[in-house]
Amino acid sequence: MKSRIILLIAMVAMVVACQPKDPVERQIDGLLSQMTLEEKIAQMTQVCGGKISDDIAEQIRNGAGSMLNSVGAEADYYQRIAVEESRLGIPMIFARDVIHGFRTIFPIPLGQAATFDPAIVEEGARIAAEEAMQAGLRWTFSPMVDVARDPRWGRVAEGYGEDTYLASVMGAAAVRGYQGKDSVVRMAACVKHFAGYAASEGGRDYNSTWIPEIQLRETYLPPFQAAIDAGSLSIMCAFNDLNGVPASANKHLNVDILRDEWQFDGVLVSDWASLQNMNNQGNSADLKEATQLCMDAQMDIDMESKGYPRHLKELVEEGKVSEKVIDDCVRNILRMKFRLGLFDNPYCYTENPEYFTAEALAAAQKAAEESAVLLKNNGILPLSHTRYPITVLVCGPMANAPHEQNGTWCFDKDDAMTITPMMAFRELAKEGKIRLIEQKGEHWSREFNKENIATLARLAKQADVVLYFAGEESILSGEARSRAVLNLPGDQSEQIKAIKATGKPIVLTVMAGRPLCIREDIDRADAVLYAFHGGTMQGTALANLIMGKVAPSGRLPMTFPMGEGQIPFYYNYKTPSRKMAKSPKLINDIPIRAYQFSVGESSYWLEYGNKPEYPFGYGLTYTTFEYGAVTLSDTLLLGSSSHGLTASCDITNTGKCDAVAVPQLYIRDVVGSLTRPIRELKGFQRVEIPAGETRTVTFDISEKDLAYWHLAEGASLGSEGEYIFSAEPGEFHVWIAPNSAEGQFAAFVLQ
Ligand code: BGC
Repeated sequence: MKSRIILLIAMVAMVVACQPKDPVERQIDGLLSQMTLEEKIAQMTQVCGGKISDDIAEQIRNGAGSMLNSVGAEADYYQRIAVEESRLGIPMIFARDVIHGFRTIFPIPLGQAATFDPAIVEEGARIAAEEAMQAGLRWTFSPMVDVARDPRWGRVAEGYGEDTYLASVMGAAAVRGYQGKDSVVRMAACVKHFAGYAASEGGRDYNSTWIPEIQLRETYLPPFQAAIDAGSLSIMCAFNDLNGVPASANKHLNVDILRDEWQFDGVLVSDWASLQNMNNQGNSADLKEATQLCMDAQMDIDMESKGYPRHLKELVEEGKVSEKVIDDCVRNILRMKFRLGLFDNPYCYTENPEYFTAEALAAAQKAAEESAVLLKNNGILPLSHTRYPITVLVCGPMANAPHEQNGTWCFDKDDAMTITPMMAFRELAKEGKIRLIEQKGEHWSREFNKENIATLARLAKQADVVLYFAGEESILSGEARSRAVLNLPGDQSEQIKAIKATGKPIVLTVMAGRPLCIREDIDRADAVLYAFHGGTMQGTALANLIMGKVAPSGRLPMTFPMGEGQIPFYYNYKTPSRKMAKSPKLINDIPIRAYQFSVGESSYWLEYGNKPEYPFGYGLTYTTFEYGAVTLSDTLLLGSSSHGLTASCDITNTGKCDAVAVPQLYIRDVVGSLTRPIRELKGFQRVEIPAGETRTVTFDISEKDLAYWHLAEGASLGSEGEYIFSAEPGEFHVWIAPNSAEGQFAAFVLQ
C-alpha cells in the first residue's frame, strides 16, 4: 500500500512539475528569490502583540510574517509598518482565537454541535469572521475538531463532541463560514489540534496519548481531512505527544499524512510555545534541538516558542536544516497570504465597526435555542401550558452571570451586551406574562453559603415554579481545566435539595462547558434543559424555550455518563467479548458470600449497569415522535455498482405541538476482519414536523459509508503501514433512530 501511495505521489509530482506554474506560484517564486534567510525566518515566526512597542515595530520592519493577539488600531498600525516600511512590503497576517464569535458570542462549539445543524455553525462562523475582520484580523485558530470522549478534559467545550462524523460535518461547516465560498477568503480557518489531543490520558490536559494507527485514522483524523477538503487554509499542531513523539515534531502526522497523503499546501503552525514544551516532554534537550525536530517535520510557523528566531539561522549554517525546507515553509505562508488577497488589500480594520447587528443577535439567539437539549420533562414545560400569570422564582448561580454564560475563549465579548435568563424573565414580567421573584445578589457556581440555601427555600415557597440555573463558571472548562469530579460545584446540589423539600416544581437548566454527572440533581428536577454556555443571547433563548415560544431541538453531542467511573464512555464502542448484561445485578443486590460466578459473566459496572445516564444523540421536545420501520431500497448492495441504497422511515409527530425531529442514520458492520463498533453515525437531518403529521426521511448509503481502515490482506497488526480503507463484503444493519440507543434495524448485504 505504502509503495503504491509513494508511486502515485511521484507521478502527481511529475505531472505538476511539467505544468506551467500558476500566477500565484510565480509571484511566490519571485518574492522568495529576493528574500534573505533572515527575512524567511521572520515570516516563519509568529510575534505576540497586545501593545504598541518599538521592539515589535522593529521586528516587523525586519520582515515578521504574522502576529497573534494584535487587534484593531494596533493591528492596523503594525500592518502599515509591514507594508510601507519593511524591505519587501509583505503584508502581515493578524491572528486570534475567534472560537465561538468575536463580539457577538455564539454557544461554545460543544453547544453548537448539539444543534445537529451545520447551517448554524456556518452562519456563526461567517458572522464571527465578518466582525473580526473589522478589527484587522484575517486568521482564526478555529475550528477545533478533536474527537473527545472524555468529559473530564476541559477542552471538550471547544470541539464538536465524541463523534467523528458529527465533528467532520461541523468542522467543515465552520471552515466554509470563516472563509466563505468566493475566490478571496474572508478569514483563514485553522483546524486544530493535529492530532489526537483529546485522547490525553485520564482527561488531564497536555497529557500524552497512545493511539494505534487504525484508531487514529478511523476516529481522530477524518474531521481534519474534512476541514481540509472544505478548504481550511491552515492547521495547528497539538500539544500532546502521540505514540511517543510530540505532535509538533511528528513526521508521521505532519509529513507522511498531511503533506504526502493529503497533499496539503496550506500552513502548519505550532501551538503556543509547543517547541519549548517538547523539552518538558523529554524528546529534546533544548530549544535548538526542538527547533531542528520541528523543521524535520516541516512545521511552517513557530507560535511563541522563539525556537525559529533564535536557532534556525544557526541550524542552516551548520547544515542541519536545509534552505530548501525553509523555502517550502515560506512558500506555504506566502500562499496563504495570496489566497487571503492580502497583497491586494492588506487593510481591513475600520474605525466604525458594526458589531451586535440585529442579524448577528438573531443568529446567536437561534443558535442558543437550537443548542439546548431537553433531557427530562414530566409535563411542567413549557410553562405556557400553565395558568397565567404564573409566579416564577428565577435563581441559581448562572441565572444572572453574563461573564459565565459566554463560556471559554471569548476575549472580545461584551458582558454589557449579554442577555442573561434573569434579564429575559424581567422582560416577560414587564409584559405581564409572568410574576417574577428574583434571587438577589451575585452568585457563583463554587459558592458555599448556608444563608443562601435558607433564602432560596423561603422564596421557593412563594412561587408556583422554580427556575434554577445551575452550571459551571466559564473558568472551569476550556484549556487546562480538567476536572476529576463532574458535579455541580459549590453547594448547588444542596440548594436544589432545599428547594425540592418545599414541594415546588423545579426546572433545572444547566449551563456548563461539558457533560456533568448529576444524576441526583436530575432526579430532583421536574424538567432538565442542558444548555451549555450559550453566549450573548442565551437568556432570551432559554426564556423562549421554557415558555414554549420555541420547542427544544438540541441533541447530545456526547454520551452523558452516570458517574465519572464510566469514562471514557461513548456510543460507538466495540462489543465486549462477553455479552452486555440485560438486567445486571447491581452491587447491593449481590448476596453475601455469593458463589464466584453466581452473578453471571457479563459486561457491566456493579454500580451503574451498562447504560449511560443519556446516550449520544438524545434529546426530547414538547411533542412525541414515532419512528416507523426502516425501509431499504434493496437488501443487496453490489460493491461494483456505482449507485448505492436508500434507507427511509416515516416519522409521525404524535403530540400537540409542531417541532423538529432529528433522525439519525446509524450503520453497523456486523462482522469485519477487525472488530467493528456497535453502531456508527453516518447521517442526520433536522425535519420540521407539524403536530399530527408524518414526514418520510430518506438517507443515501453508498459503499464509501461502509468503508473503514483495516489491514491489507496478509498483513498483521504491527506490520509497517499495511492499512487499507475499504468496505468488506457481508451483512450490515441500518437504523434511522431518534438517538444512538433506540430504534429497530433493517439489514442488507454488501456483495
Ligand atoms: C491553545 C490553542 C490556541 C493557542 C493560541 C494554545 O494554548 O492550545 O488552541 O489557538 O493557544 O492562543
